[in-house]
Amino acid sequence: MDLTSYAELAVLLVNGELPDEGDLRAELTTVFAHAAGGREREAVELLNDLLARHPVSPQISGHDGQRWHLHLAEGGVVMGLAAVVTELGVDRLGVCQAARCSRVFVDTSSNRSRRYCSERCASRANVAAYRARRRSGQ
Ligand SMILES: [Zn+2]
Ligand SMILES: [Zn+2]
Repeated sequence: MDLTSYAELAVLLVNGELPDEGDLRAELTTVFAHAAGGREREAVELLNDLLARHPVSPQISGHDGQRWHLHLAEGGVVMGLAAVVTELGVDRLGVCQAARCSRVFVDTSSNRSRRYCSERCASRANVAAYRARRRSGQ
């Protein structure tokens, strides 16, 4: 089972692209904020708390012509983030650094260099930096 795909579901949930069925969105947002702010222990403690309150309930599922596979229900997104944190590191959970954007992402780049939620935010930030340099005459 690919737990990283569940971490991507957590990203969609925090970014408002999936409906919030419990009260997970606010707490997952806080996990990302702690992680991006370098507060590793706080991020891990909140994740442990969420793991206890949202147990993983695996169900074997088959649909859309796919092979039998496991679904983890609601606890899956928390488990996905826990897998990223333990296998890749807390610093892989990020908050977009573009101005006026607070979307989150999971950094799966090989050199941990990701700073933006999307290509769109990355190019917007690059243009802003270019204009700032031109204004200051550098
Ligand atoms: Zn499925
Ligand atoms: Zn962004």
